Parts: sequence; structure tokens; C-alpha cells
Amino acid sequence: MDCVFCQIVSKKIPSDIVYQDGEVLAFRDINPQAPVHLLVIPKKHIASLAELAEEELPLMGRMVSVASKLAEREGVSESGYRLVINCGREGGQLVPHLHLHLLGGRQLRGQLG
Ligand code: AMP
Ligand code: ZN
Repeated sequence: MDCVFCQIVSKKIPSDIVYQDGEVLAFRDINPQAPVHLLVIPKKHIASLAELAEEELPLMGRMVSVASKLAEREGVSESGYRLVINCGREGGQLVPHLHLHLLGGRQLRGQLG
């Protein structure tokens, strides 16, 4: 599997990991768009939100829950933050492994693309 995020899961390429459990991994984005920019991913390869099976929905809930806890740990829970999932080409998804962006630590603007 030459998926970059699968390689991060298997530690074949280094990353700044901030959280992991049996199903979910979180690490700092290599090209941060805000003072806090984390990526929360399933350890299992799922190509995009469009590929998420019905029975995998609880995993999505776990990812959101991890993001919320990390927002607290990073000190942006009170000031506020944004969770973003890009899906597919026109959604701006560059890495074909499902991921949740957690952005915070600065005023994010209202425009969504
Ligand atoms: P997206 O456009 O939603 O697919 O976002 C992919 C994100 O992955 C971008 O914000 C990249 O900066 C980030 N990224 C790509 N490669 C790495 C890597 N090796 N380590 C950490 N973040 C990465
Ligand atoms: Zn993958």
C-alpha cells in the first residue's frame, strides 16, 4: 500500500503523532494552515467519506470525539475551532485516506472555499 497516511500508521514515514488508540491516529499536519492543525484518521484504510460503509459510522463518531478531546488538550476548545473533511476532487481532497482536519488557534474566516 503506497498510501501516505497508511505509511504514517505503520510508522514507515515519520510524523508528529499526538494521539493513538486501536482504531484512530492523530498527528500534526506537515503544512499547517493554523497554529493548531491536526489530522485525525482511521488506522484502517478508507479512501474517502464516500467510501465509508454504514457499519463504519461509529468510527466516524470516534474520530470526532478524539478531535474534540484534542481541541481541549491543544487549548482551543474555548476559543473555538473547525473540523473539515474534504471529499473527492472538487472537495479538495489530496490524500486518498479519510481524514478530519482540526483547525484552531486563530480567527478562521466564514468562507468555505
Ligand atoms: P486534503 O487536501 O484534505 O487531502 O489534506 C491533506 C493534508 O495532508 C494536507 O493538509 C497536507 O499538508 C497533509 N499532509 C500530507 N502529507 C503529510 C505528511 N506526511 N504528514 C503530515 N501531513 C501531511
Ligand atoms: Zn491509507
